[in-house]
This record gives sequence, C-alpha cells and structure tokens, in this order.
Amino acid sequence: MANLFQSVRGFNDVLPPDTAIWQHLHRVANETFAAYGYGEIRLPLLEHTALFSRSIGEVTDIVEKEMFTFLDREGDSLTLRPEGTACCVRAGLEHGLLHNQQQRLWYAGPMFRHERPQAGRYRQFHQLGAEAYGMVGPDIDLEVIALSARLLARLGLRDLTLELNSLGSSEARAAYRSALIDFLQRHESSLDADSKRRMHSNPLRVLDSKSPQTQEILRDAPKLIDALDLESRLHFEQLQQGLSDLGLPFRLNSRLVRGLDYYGRTVFEWTTTALGAQGTVCAGGRYDGLVTQLGGSATPAVGWACGIERLILLMKAQGVAVPDTAPHVYLCWLGDAAQREAARLGEQLRDAHPGLRLVVNAGGGKLAAQLKRADRSGARVALILGDTEIAARTIQVKSLRDTDTSPASIPEQQILPWSELSGYVAGLFDA
Ligand code: ATP
Ligand code: MG
Repeated sequence: MANLFQSVRGFNDVLPPDTAIWQHLHRVANETFAAYGYGEIRLPLLEHTALFSRSIGEVTDIVEKEMFTFLDREGDSLTLRPEGTACCVRAGLEHGLLHNQQQRLWYAGPMFRHERPQAGRYRQFHQLGAEAYGMVGPDIDLEVIALSARLLARLGLRDLTLELNSLGSSEARAAYRSALIDFLQRHESSLDADSKRRMHSNPLRVLDSKSPQTQEILRDAPKLIDALDLESRLHFEQLQQGLSDLGLPFRLNSRLVRGLDYYGRTVFEWTTTALGAQGTVCAGGRYDGLVTQLGGSATPAVGWACGIERLILLMKAQGVAVPDTAPHVYLCWLGDAAQREAARLGEQLRDAHPGLRLVVNAGGGKLAAQLKRADRSGARVALILGDTEIAARTIQVKSLRDTDTSPASIPEQQILPWSELSGYVAGLFDA
C-alpha cells in the first residue's frame, strides 16, 4: 500500500454524496444568474503569466507567492489561473465583447493558488463569479450585490454580513496613500514584516494585513472614506441608498481594501463568523481601470467571486437541506430469466419516467445480499423479481425506509402486477 499514489497537496477529490451538494449549488447558481440575464463564459485554466502580473499587481500575495507558474516546452511562461476576472477581461477583449457594449457575464471553475492548505483554503479551489461591463453608475454595483445576496439566500445560507467600502478615484487613493505612508512610518517598528515591506510599494494592502498587532495599530490610521473625491462619495451614497431600498443590510468597513490591485470605488465582501479565519465567502468590487490596463479602451466594470468550497462548508455547518439524489428504486432479481427481465423492465421504467432514479442489481448475489445493497443505496423501495413472479407477471415490492411519512406511504411488502408497476413507480417521486 505504501506506494499508492496520493493527490497533490491542496488538490482535493470531491466524492459522492458531496458531489450532489456541488450539483445543487451549480443548479441554483445557473438559475440565479439567468434570473438577472447573465450569460455564462467558459475560460481556459492556463494563461500567459504576464496577464496576471499586469492585472492583479506585482506586490500582491497572489503574484508574489501564490501562482503556479512554469515554462512550457517552447519556453513560454504560463500560469494556472489564480482568479477569473483577468481571464474574463482577456477573453472579452480578444473577442470584441467589451468595446462600447454592455455585458453581463458569469463563470465557474477551478482556480489555483499556492497557499498553505487548511479548512476553507486549498491550492485548487473553485469560484463562481459575476462580471458586468460597460455600466458606470451605482445601479450596476447594486445589481451585482443583489445578485450575490439572492444566490446566497437561495442556497439557504443565513447570518452573512455584507461589508462595504469605497476606494474612491485613483487620484483620491494617491492622496490617501501619502497620508497612510506618513502614518505607517510613525509606527514602522511595530508593524509585521510583510506590512513593513509593503508600506512603500503598496501601502493600502497593509490595511488588509492579517496580523492582529498591525490591525491594532491601524485603528488610528487615517480613513480612506474621509479622503473620497466628490464623485466617488456620491456614487457610494447612491449605492447605499439602493441597498436600503432593496432591504439589504450592510456594514461599512473602512479597512476593506481587497487583495488585488485593480479595484477602485465600490468594494464589498460577504463574511461569516462560522468558518474561522476563512470567513469571506464572496468578494468583489468595481474595477474601472483594468480593461485599459490590459490594452482595451476605457470600460467600466464591476463583479465578484464566491469561493465554492467555503459556500459548501457553510451549507453543511448550517445544515442546509439539499435535494435527495439517492435512487428511488433498487431492482433485485433471482435467476437467469429474472436477470434478463429485470434489465428489460429497468429500461422500460426509465423510458416512462425520465426523473426516475433506478438501480438494477448487478453481479448476482443471494436475496439477502441484494437487499443489503438496496438498503445501502438509499433507495426507498426494493423491487424483487424471481421465477414465480415472472410466471405470474407480477413483482414484489418491499419498503426500505420505514420512517417514510409521505401521503403515498408504502406498505411493508406487497405484490403488484406488471401492468400496475409504472403507475406505482410514478407515485414514488414528484416529477
Ligand atoms: P483570502 O483573504 O481568504 O485569502 P482573497 O482575498 O485572496 O481571500 P479573492 O481573491 O477575493 O480572495 O477570492 C474570492 C473568494 O475566493 C474568497 O472570498 C474565498 O471565498 C475564495 N478563495 C480565495 N482563495 C481561496 C483558497 N485558497 N481556497 C479556497 N477558497 C479561496
Ligand atoms: Mg488570498
């Protein structure tokens, strides 16, 4: 056993029955994006490294130390995508989706970051993201936030906080930057090592420091919100008004800056206290400068990304109900003739009931063994076919779940003629 392969550290398999939760999440996401007119974009996993260093920012955790970057056989530097926004802008520019247009897009899929694996933090993880292009006003900020709120609610998640901040215009940020550097210099000796290093290259990122001591010092730091330019202030006020109109509560957090460089004006996060240090399940904001930074013409943009694993951890922690995917029926057979009849009946029932989940026993076995498999499969009933039943064109029905309280409750055991089987099976599920 010692030389069995194991998955790469931080890269996880998702197994049944967990995959049923993932499928449910994707179904809910598909419906929610459709409810707002967002179209799905599917993007490759691999991009040129420069796409990320130029967009996310050289002095960010992601670009400094988290990317899976390698030289391919032609000597080109490629990177497994650490996030989706830069890829989405790249694709939008490449296919002419952004110039003088409005676009509402969404994506889902794996992202890769070389971080220390722990609960809610992996090296391959999955994001669900929305991006809206070509709309400059706070109404679209409101729309993407309302969309995220609806998605979280439809997933059955509770007790999430919407944290909100505005980073203002790039001019306002530049002015604030110098004020912040002044402040940080006065406290330099007490800052953590990362923050000392970032103080000059990217001081705003210090606000996002995970060091409690640095956070303590930052209590008295000048606030970005006090340095906002008039237009950004107005934009931010209108967004807050819109959130109130929709009955979406939020908490202003002047230290919320996000870990990527391309954000300006609105930034937000959905956070929970139920997942320890990995409490952010969704994060986003406005990034009006990114399209020009990547070579396109000026295009306003706003979006967000959810961490799917964190959503699922929270769904489990909050005991969210997920639609059952266990089979409705497990079909047992005894003898050669019954085996052939079972295969035929199984196909016939699936033809008649597209929503039916039916397992036909395979690999033989005594009746007791087959019923054990039936029970393990989670099926509600076992159907049993033997020579006697075939001769009489009947089938035995055995209830496997005695906790069943549905109106069409199934008696312990009964015998049905084949002519009634289809109608009986239809009563087992709602489809
Ligand atoms: P964190 O501060 O937790 O590292 P981040 O700011 O790096 O998060 P973003 O780049 O904004 O995260 O990604 C959006 C969301 O993707 C996060 O809010 C989180 O839910 C999820 N996410 C980010 N990194 C990971 C990871 N390594 N494993 C699992 N989920 C992640
Ligand atoms: Mg991170």
